Amino acid sequence: MKLYTYKRTGQSSPEVGVLRDGKLVPVAAFGLKYATMNELIRGASPEELKALASGAFDASAAVALESVKLLAPIPEPAQDVLCLGLNYMAHANEARSFNAALASKEGWPVYFSKRVNWAPGDGDGIPAHEDVTGQLDYEVELAVIIGRDAKNVTMEDAKDYVFGYTVLNDVTARDLQNRHVQWYFGKSLDGFTPMGPCIVTADEFAFPPALHISCAVNGEVRQDANTNMLIHSIAKIISQFSQGVTLKAGTIIATGTPKGVGMGMATPTFLKKGDVVTCEIEGIGKLTNTIV
Ligand code: MG
Repeated sequence: MKLYTYKRTGQSSPEVGVLRDGKLVPVAAFGLKYATMNELIRGASPEELKALASGAFDASAAVALESVKLLAPIPEPAQDVLCLGLNYMAHANEARSFNAALASKEGWPVYFSKRVNWAPGDGDGIPAHEDVTGQLDYEVELAVIIGRDAKNVTMEDAKDYVFGYTVLNDVTARDLQNRHVQWYFGKSLDGFTPMGPCIVTADEFAFPPALHISCAVNGEVRQDANTNMLIHSIAKIISQFSQGVTLKAGTIIATGTPKGVGMGMATPTFLKKGDVVTCEIEGIGKLTNTIV
C-alpha cells in the first residue's frame, strides 16, 4: 500500500492516510489514532496495517489526492538520516574524477548522516542557499524505512525489519562537502532532503527491490539506473549497521545514488534557482522540487 502525509486545504495539522481505490483515506477512518507517520510505523500492529491495506472503511472520508498538499511522508525524522556514500560503482568512479579523496575502502560501505529538520515534500522548493554554496547538486536515492527496532540483525532476517520505501533526494553542497572533509555539513542544510511522494510498504516489492531509478533536471534525464545495482545490499546495510547500533523504528536509510550527478559531468554543472529536479523510482512515484 501507499501511505501519505498531507494537509487538507484549510487544515493546520498534517494527517496520515492510505491510498485506496485511487483516493486518500485518513487512517482515522479505520479507527486508528496515529497523528504522524512515525507514530504509525512505531505503533501499528500487523492487523492494523492489514486493515489499512484491505479493510473496510467509511468511503465518505476519502479525499482526492489532487485536493491535498502532500508533505514528505516523514516530514520530521526522529533522528538524522543514515546514508550510504559511493554505493553504485559508476557513481563512485565519477565522484573520484571530481575529487580523488571521495573514495571508499575496498569492500566496506561508506556511512554518513545528514540532519533533517524539515524534509520538503513533492512540489516543495529546495532552498538554493546561495550565500553558503555555489555547488548545489542532486542525488536520487531509494530510501529504506525501518519498521521495528533492529539490533544485531542477520542478513537473512534483514528484510523483516523493512517497513517500506520512498524516494529521497540527497541534495548536497559539493563545496562544503569537500572543504570540511566530513560530509555532514554539506548534506545538512535546511531543505536538503526532499522525500516522497509516499511510502510504499515492503510487501509491494520483491526483496531486494529491483526498481528503475532516475533523476531529471529541467526534463533532461541525468541519472538512469536500477536499484539492483547497489554495491552493498539493503540486507548487508541493515545487518552490518545494526551490529552494536540499534536502528530505531522510523529510521530512514538513504541507500546511495547512481551515476549522473552534476559534479560528475564533463564540465561539472550545478543547480541554480528555477531548476526543476524530478526524482523517480518505479512503483513509488515522482518527487519534483524546484530550486528556490
Ligand atoms: Mg547520497
